[in-house]
Amino acid sequence: MTEAVAEDEVAYGEALKTSSKLYEKACGIFPNGITHDLRNYAPFPIYASHAAAGRKWDVDGNEYVDLWMGHGSLLLGHCYPPMVEAVAAQVAKGTHFGACHELEVIWGELVQRLIPTAERVRFTGSGTEATLMALRLARTFTGKRKVLKFIGHFHGWHDNLMIGVIPPFDEPVPAGILKEVADTVALCPPNDIQRVNEILDADPDIACVIVEPTGASFGTIPGRSGFLEELRETTRRRNVLLIFDEVITGFRCSPGGAQAYYGVNPDLTSLAKVLAGGLPGGALAGRKDILELLEFRGDREWDYCRKMPHQGTFNANPLSAAAGIATLEAVATGEPNQQANDNADILKKALNEVIAGHDVDWLVYGEFSGIKFLPNCGGRDDARESIFSGTYDYKKLKGPDPAISQGFRTAMQLAGVDMMGMTGLTSSAHTEADLDHVARAFDATLNRLKKNKLI
Ligand code: PMP
Repeated sequence: MTEAVAEDEVAYGEALKTSSKLYEKACGIFPNGITHDLRNYAPFPIYASHAAAGRKWDVDGNEYVDLWMGHGSLLLGHCYPPMVEAVAAQVAKGTHFGACHELEVIWGELVQRLIPTAERVRFTGSGTEATLMALRLARTFTGKRKVLKFIGHFHGWHDNLMIGVIPPFDEPVPAGILKEVADTVALCPPNDIQRVNEILDADPDIACVIVEPTGASFGTIPGRSGFLEELRETTRRRNVLLIFDEVITGFRCSPGGAQAYYGVNPDLTSLAKVLAGGLPGGALAGRKDILELLEFRGDREWDYCRKMPHQGTFNANPLSAAAGIATLEAVATGEPNQQANDNADILKKALNEVIAGHDVDWLVYGEFSGIKFLPNCGGRDDARESIFSGTYDYKKLKGPDPAISQGFRTAMQLAGVDMMGMTGLTSSAHTEADLDHVARAFDATLNRLKKNKLI
């Protein structure tokens, strides 16, 4: 560690004394002191106290423009007033009825109205559970065992799909996942339709293909134009099911998600995040003849072995339903989506201007409401062109240099911006002042990285 980096860590420690104390305690409770891998951060993470619209505060009173936005669940920003009111009213009426309730019907109807392919819907506890359900239904429906997934694409942390997600991607399977399970996953480079066809031709046991429709981690490795159409055509021709994991793109790219935006219809769609308006929740939506495999039926053909069992204490819980309804009613107008996308466009432009002023080889890219910082991009114009045509070395897009990303995050936090490493998300609630603040923070960050000899 250089002297300058050490100085920054001291400055960080000074500004975040209460967070530091909480972290000390947390280390005696949680592995690494954290409850989500993405919050692992040296020397210690911030502890938030409250949030509103596009900002949040930590327990030491520091204020941040927030580009985490609840891991993407807060398209409308923190504490969207109708959501807060709806949840507060519902808390007083009951948080869990152990029974069907009206809000789940209204919530499900909204999903059906907005997502073009949602002939049927089933609520789950999270996005991870939704993709797990998608795979199990695909296996039940087709009688085949395997899934084709794309390198770098994230679909939650269950055994089948937590493979090929994190750099270096082609390492042995992650700890705790059986090789036998990994053997049921065919990994394919992103955007490579030729390779998809080769894999599907060689293996008749593939039940489904799952894809993040705008590319890995909400377009950190963007999807190539035309790729979804090609996937749809090749899977349909071979009777392989196509699953869009719209946990992040759903209700964000457009009210009807990426599928409505691109006009490509998957067989199954996993949903979460914006779906539940900032509370926990997920859903699987899709073809009636596939989701019918969740149904109890009297005749022998539909006996226990053919019905896919599904439970979950918090499926469609009334609080998430209340938050989800308030949020989706706003999403249905299309305005928050447009506003969040416009905010990202304004921010990307401002951030790239900051880069130009510093004469460094960085690029800020991203689609819809996504913001991605790419250091050492290899020439901005060339990089932009090759990233979006799918020819850029995708391994360099997901997994930036750890020293730069650590220095970047510390510097951005010291300048009052909190984001997921080198990626962020805008909401409809970010103001012009918020966006200006991020651009100024980035300017200060580049100065700090230069001073620290990290760039
Ligand atoms: N799929 C995608 C595309 C996601 O972005 C995420 C969460 N980041 C998940 C699945 C998992 O969802 P959850 O965290 O709700 O389990």
